[in-house]
Amino acid sequence: MTQHLLILGGTTEASALAHAVASNDLKATFSYAGRVANPKAQPIPTREGGFGGPQGLAAYIRNHNISHVIDATHPFAAQMSWNAFEACRATDTPLAALTRPAWTPVENDTWQLVPDIAHAVAILQGEAKRVMLALGRLHMNDFAVQPQHHYVLRLVDAPEETPALPNHTVVVARGPFDVDEDIALFKEHAVEVVVCKNAGGTGAAAKIQAARALGLPVIMIERPKLPARAELATPKAVLEWLTAHPATERGV
Ligand code: NAP
Repeated sequence: MTQHLLILGGTTEASALAHAVASNDLKATFSYAGRVANPKAQPIPTREGGFGGPQGLAAYIRNHNISHVIDATHPFAAQMSWNAFEACRATDTPLAALTRPAWTPVENDTWQLVPDIAHAVAILQGEAKRVMLALGRLHMNDFAVQPQHHYVLRLVDAPEETPALPNHTVVVARGPFDVDEDIALFKEHAVEVVVCKNAGGTGAAAKIQAARALGLPVIMIERPKLPARAELATPKAVLEWLTAHPATERGV
């Protein structure tokens, strides 16, 4: 079977892998969920949109003769990671994740760790604050039950519908972000607390460093449970893993 890599993307790390794969002339397809209006261009063929659950992904793997799957999705894209795990198991396809270590607090950081978004919402009960909500579009309206705060929403695209948060400012921007720019952003909007997911990696770390520099508290949402798979930290490690796992005829 010829090698044909499927990269599940949507992250800075996935884009770095696409460039490494292109420079090494490997056959690969990059997959986007299709949530963003103008996704970042990639140096390899790209497809967009859901596969239709684990069965849909298994069918895609078979129909496109995918030899390996690299799950380079965001650590909070747990549904996709579990789907990839199941589809690869069903089709006997080698799977590895390109992951990044979670961020950890350093001395003098004031982080409150919460297990999920619902807990982040609950912990915001109390006096009105100016809150940086760096969570993306999907869960911002969960914070409407704490309407006393002014929320600064950083989103990749301008929202099609007005957010359900009575007091908010939308900042349209796409990572990777810069720490000095994030410090300036937090000062400009007089941010008092930052709410974010523990994404790890470098592309989104600027907000953590900016909060650190300004002595701001962070409500840090911890990662969801992900399947057990080979976990690789760099594009180079993925290329080495591919060499160690040559494409084989698919089992039935
Ligand atoms: P999710 O909840 O894990 O996935 C929901 C569904 O979206 C999946 O079941 C799948 O649909 C589809 N999907 C997700 N990633 C896909 C991909 N790379 N290619 C094709 N279909 C995909 O995912 P999410 O949290 O909504 O994230 C969506 C995308 O945004 C991911 O690619 C992720 O890397 C990126 N992203 C997410 C976050 C975050 O905080 N969650 C942050 C930055 C970037 P089907 O079941 O129909 O196949």
